[in-house]
Amino acid sequence: MSMHLPQIEIRREALRIAGERVQRPETIEVTYPYTGQVIGTVPRATLEDVRRACRIARGYRPALTRHDRYRILMRAGELLAARRDEVSRLITLESGLSLKDTLYEAGRASDVLLFAANQALVDDGQVFSCDLTHHGKSRKVYTLREPLQGVITAITPFNHPLNQVIHKVAPAVATNNRMVLKPSEKTPLTALLLADVLYEAGLPPEMLSVLTGEPREIADEMLTHPDVDMVTFTGGVAIGKHIAARAAYKRQVLELGGNDPLIVMEDADVEEAAMLAASGSYKNSGQRCTAIKRMLVHESLADRFVERLVAHTEAVRHGDPMDPATDMGTVIDEAAARYCEQVVGEAIAEGARLRHGNVRRGALYAPTVLDHVRPEMAVVRQETFGPVSPVIRFKTIEEAIALSNGTAYGLSSSVCTNRLDYITRFVRELAVGSVNIREVPGYRLELTPFGGIKDSGLGYKEGVLEAMKSFTHTKTYSLPW
Ligand code: NAD
Repeated sequence: MSMHLPQIEIRREALRIAGERVQRPETIEVTYPYTGQVIGTVPRATLEDVRRACRIARGYRPALTRHDRYRILMRAGELLAARRDEVSRLITLESGLSLKDTLYEAGRASDVLLFAANQALVDDGQVFSCDLTHHGKSRKVYTLREPLQGVITAITPFNHPLNQVIHKVAPAVATNNRMVLKPSEKTPLTALLLADVLYEAGLPPEMLSVLTGEPREIADEMLTHPDVDMVTFTGGVAIGKHIAARAAYKRQVLELGGNDPLIVMEDADVEEAAMLAASGSYKNSGQRCTAIKRMLVHESLADRFVERLVAHTEAVRHGDPMDPATDMGTVIDEAAARYCEQVVGEAIAEGARLRHGNVRRGALYAPTVLDHVRPEMAVVRQETFGPVSPVIRFKTIEEAIALSNGTAYGLSSSVCTNRLDYITRFVRELAVGSVNIREVPGYRLELTPFGGIKDSGLGYKEGVLEAMKSFTHTKTYSLPW
């Protein structure tokens, strides 16, 4: 197969320290996973860059009114929408995700800005009358939410280079906070573009700095600096737990990995379940925290389900991410594709049956269906962050619930059934943050609460509304009344 090399103007990017563009002699190359071409470089920020960004942010007191914040976020949404094709192409170049996936991501980012803008207008204060008990008084207690005193550090993963970032930045703007952001070194370019869009939309530059670099060199300072009050992190479990230990006495929101099941009960519509399975497993090249990573299927319809899943998998066009007809591009790099190949190979050696895929070329890994997988196999015990559909068969709802709860993770889940008795049991008994009936686990609005428990997170949620709560503290005041 010949490889189409896109014409690329290499971007020589700078840090954004409170809006100021700062270059450093040491840089990191960003490559297009499909061809291996270098598409840009970003500076390797120094410890002094981190300290300066934190100092400036800490020293600045945002004074934007609700209306100002609304206007900035709405304007940023308009600017981003006007540059949608450019943004989508940039995400594709740095991640290898297909244009279909990245156009969708750019659209989601506009939703985040829209919701954050609207939430900025909402005063969520409460009023309590104080004459509620016999020793009550003629007073009222009021609540208001204030931004944090110190800086919020945001650290984001590679899998949604825009959406993961905007879910932290937009709620920070909406609550008048100051944020120092470190995007993934694998996909830092879109985050820099987003910062420029926000500055252009009128954001005071002191409210957002973007630092790029080697996490080993700068991340620790971002976790421990005295000016930092909070760390909001999305990424893998290992680094999440490291952060939990390092960022002592700082507020922490940790959105970590997932191992989400699709559970197909015996009354399910097989065609619908197979369609959800394929889209939940292959969208974004399978690299979503809420991608379907295990398919638990009742044995009575497993054969039919696998047949339909294979048909849907064969229909997925995978290849050149820049071809608008491509459904699925690459995973993030060749090492990630090799990992998929390795765990699938191990499962086959242990008795699983390969029904489709497991073909790799560089960072391109074909959508893959594995049947007769057992729960102890590494491909389902750990998070396989790629387009792999492993099918496990079960006999009873008790078994399905035990299998679902039998990994370290607890992010989201999907259940295909119409039976209310099953639905109520799954909603009550699955140890996860979300249960979606007849929908993929990743389904949500950008506004609604989202996040996991167990190794998937500490239970604090993201989504615009929850993020705005975690980025503020409640102050009360009381008045004679
Ligand atoms: P990762 O954990 O390898 O990296 C995430 C971020 O942490 C990057 O910016 C990286 O530079 C930074 N980092 C690396 N070392 C660090 C250190 N010592 N201290 C502080 N930060 C450090 O994750 P990834 O490979 O970029 O992303 C994939 C993972 O993210 C998957 O496990 C996926 O499930 C998870 N994820 C979770 C959610 C969620 O909302 N729960 C969403 C998307 C992705």
